[in-house]
Amino acid sequence: MSLLPLHILGSPVLRRRSVEIGAPDDEVRRLVEDMFETMDASKGIGLAANQVGVARRVAVVDADGDRFVMIDPVILESEGRAIAEEGCLSIPDIYGDVARPERVVLEATDLEGNRYRRDATGLKARAIQHEIDHLDGILFLDHLSLIKRQMLLARWRREHKDDTGYTKEVQAESARTD
Ligand SMILES: [Zn+2]
Repeated sequence: MSLLPLHILGSPVLRRRSVEIGAPDDEVRRLVEDMFETMDASKGIGLAANQVGVARRVAVVDADGDRFVMIDPVILESEGRAIAEEGCLSIPDIYGDVARPERVVLEATDLEGNRYRRDATGLKARAIQHEIDHLDGILFLDHLSLIKRQMLLARWRREHKDDTGYTKEVQAESARTD
């Protein structure tokens, strides 16, 4: 397993619609292992493949004690509305309140190639929707009001004006000093 560099805001792959996978092969299974490791080291609750530079429709989630892979995920049903603060491993240190359906029914493929369904509420439902958004090239910032989005983007540009690229290395947990 290996830690993968994270693509951050500005990287074109975050704005593209990722392509369907179909039946997962060994390459997808290896990618998923690395994505779990990278998500854990980054203390995230979800990670989509395009956040590590791979424009394919797969994401991992670890929320409310449930850890799973979503390949070619679709939302079959959604209901309610909840507002909660979201952040994103690709937009470090930027947070905003996002309104989303409170409950969703997910259908996706697992690593064995079987379609499964999952009924999710709360944080898990939010993580699922946030990750599927990624696969469609959508970021949580897009759900904010124009004024709020422009304010956060201005701050982002100030804080990142000296960046030389659109990726960020992830440190192994044991190597972290913070
Ligand atoms: Zn994200």
